[in-house]
Amino acid sequence: MSGTGIHVRGHCRCSTDPVRFEITKQPYEVHYCLCTDCTDISGGALAILAVVEKSGFKVTEHEEKIKNFDTKPTAHRRFCGTCGCHMFLYVDAFPDFVLVHVPTLERADNLGAAPDRWVFTRSKHPMVTIPNDGLPRHEGWAGTAKAA
Ligand SMILES: [Zn+2]
Ligand SMILES: [Zn+2]
Repeated sequence: MSGTGIHVRGHCRCSTDPVRFEITKQPYEVHYCLCTDCTDISGGALAILAVVEKSGFKVTEHEEKIKNFDTKPTAHRRFCGTCGCHMFLYVDAFPDFVLVHVPTLERADNLGAAPDRWVFTRSKHPMVTIPNDGLPRHEGWAGTAKAA
């Protein structure tokens, strides 16, 4: 199903002239990430990331506001320089994909995919309890079952 056409819109938190972007291909996969890079940079306890083919992702408005911060030399995180919202990132290990922070997307839009696993559970914040959702849990990175 990967690559199926969809139209999901996302934006930063600016009330005027927000950065806007869109996803036009169903994500390759979606996962929950508990790594300290994803969580600490956005002040969250977990990240929900959609892995989208670059050809199915486009910044449509106010690209000029986007800044980059590398949480490690291989992880390039794009955020809005005005409101600070972390929107998406590029990881060198996945050159064909962009990883989009799902909560930046319109909740009413259908992404056509849901998280299929938890990754980097060894980095979980001690105040967080992973729910009994039946999904696989991985101490570090693990690819999607679809790729196995
Ligand atoms: Zn903004
Ligand atoms: Zn992460």
